[in-house]
Amino acid sequence: MELLEKKILKDGVVKAGNVLKVDNFLNHQMDIALFSEIGKDFYRLFGDCNVTKILTIEASGIGIACVTAQSFNNIPVVFAKKSKSKNISDNVYTSTVVSFTHGGENDIVVSRDYLNPGDRVLIIDDFLANGSALEGLMSIVEQSGATLVGAGIVIEKGFQPGGEKIRSKGVRVESLAIIDSMNDDGSLTFRKQG
Ligand code: 5GP
Repeated sequence: MELLEKKILKDGVVKAGNVLKVDNFLNHQMDIALFSEIGKDFYRLFGDCNVTKILTIEASGIGIACVTAQSFNNIPVVFAKKSKSKNISDNVYTSTVVSFTHGGENDIVVSRDYLNPGDRVLIIDDFLANGSALEGLMSIVEQSGATLVGAGIVIEKGFQPGGEKIRSKGVRVESLAIIDSMNDDGSLTFRKQG
């Protein structure tokens, strides 16, 4: 997505540890005009898949998922909550996710009330790196018996293994920008997509 790539080049900051900071428009301050174009692009890709629910993970995925849902005729958005508590109730689906940015593990939970076998779920997230967040969300969809339509990612770091790992499982992953290299001098290159 050209608009997104331009925004990343203009406002993205390459940090140590292969972290791209995009607080200016995605992860702290949110550019809603851009989010709206992102939502339309996800609809272009998944609009014919009869999606009934969007699933994401707190915190950064929520804004993108909500604006995207507006392009999908206002379908509900469910976000997985990160839980530190070992005291998780029976009425939830749960999985464990390793945080790319902080390193630690989080249990993530979604109430059984909000995902059902009849649902067709599109997972939305801001970044794809090693794939742990996406795998955790995929496990929750599987536990619910719902159908996974695919995953829409805003920024995939294509030089990290998550994208290949998850596509090799047969899951449709569509990333609006794929970064193929990120360098210490702050420069980065994008994969050309059809
Ligand atoms: P994964 O689970 O695929 O390793 O990492 C994905 C999650 O980690 C995303 O939900 C995102 O919040 C965070 N993340 C991974 N890489 C980056 C990055 O380069 N920049 C930012 N801001 N977040 C990232």
